[in-house]
Amino acid sequence: MEFNFEILLKIMENKKELRGWLDDLKLDHPLVIAGPCSAETEEQVLRIAHELKDTDVNYYRAGIWKPRTRPGMFEGVGALGLKWLQKVKDETGMKTATEVANAAHVKLALEHDVDLLWIGARSTVSPFIVQEIADALQGTDKIILVKNPVNPDLPLWLGAIERLATANIKKLGVIHRGFSTYEKTKYRNNPEWQLAIELQTKFPDLPIINDPSHITGKRDMIFDVSQTALDLNFDGLMIETHFDPDNAWSDASQQVTPKVLIQIMKDLKIKKESDPEADYNKQLDNLRAQIDIVDNQIIDLLGKRMKAADSIGALKKQKNVAVLQSKRWNEILGKMVLEGESKGLSEEFVLKMFKAIHQESINHQEKIING
Ligand code: PEP
Ligand code: MN
Repeated sequence: MEFNFEILLKIMENKKELRGWLDDLKLDHPLVIAGPCSAETEEQVLRIAHELKDTDVNYYRAGIWKPRTRPGMFEGVGALGLKWLQKVKDETGMKTATEVANAAHVKLALEHDVDLLWIGARSTVSPFIVQEIADALQGTDKIILVKNPVNPDLPLWLGAIERLATANIKKLGVIHRGFSTYEKTKYRNNPEWQLAIELQTKFPDLPIINDPSHITGKRDMIFDVSQTALDLNFDGLMIETHFDPDNAWSDASQQVTPKVLIQIMKDLKIKKESDPEADYNKQLDNLRAQIDIVDNQIIDLLGKRMKAADSIGALKKQKNVAVLQSKRWNEILGKMVLEGESKGLSEEFVLKMFKAIHQESINHQEKIING
């Protein structure tokens, strides 16, 4: 069944406040949610909080209940950690954020006055769990953000928003944390930017936060993904931060130190609304970011194509068959010219491009055959 965007749009239309919580913060920079993947000890939670206190960080995050792939891994400190988050608020004035994954979590988090709750990627996939959380949150004035589901399914993501909006929750937003793939990529969770762009286009008033930590899984890739997100007009970033990332109890390789976070915030190119050219620059950067994403995909796909060519080379070598097979090649060309036409590409361009691709493919195969 096609997702009925109209219903959700109607619900959203009546919620002029949708963006209100973000606008009310009157920030001159993107919203920043930072803090450790997991609350580990009271000292750890407070130390990181104090190091983040006088920075651009708006909400201090710490996972209290951790959804882990396998049993026996560190599953979070539980309700005890909520007391530490209260201390963070008292001692630093920062607002707090944590993940909730069932009604019991919601009850405890609300009792401890956590300011922002998010639904994790592994929960968004489950309509029963999302409904349970929405029911437990009914009418709350806390900010509720929904991470994308682990699978690249926009309707499922929006379905969760619809459940929350229907539960009369007004301060809503989404977190883009990337998607699982069977195939290994350079990302921990593939960003599938097009999906986030589609969501933004359909619901421009729904705040969207990027989570480069869970997208990349590697701290040295966090800056680039953050910059892409800002170029795509994301409203904020959620970045996992720990004073001793390598020894963190979860997600060690993707956390950055407070010092690095501050540097990242300094180096990010942020568009200021006051710039008279702001609108033009914003649109230009947005389109350029989209082109960069597609260019990366093209290179990625060409790499895959050449891998397949290598395997064909190995087979041909076994069978002692010639590299060049004109009949097959002419078939490919004919099909691609037609495909290209339907996408507005000229025959001349498609022929040139495929000749170049074919030549590279032949080079690959010859290399394999000649050892
Ligand atoms: C997290 O934010 O620590 C977390 C568990 O994220 P996700 O739901 O994106 O995996
Ligand atoms: Mn994490």
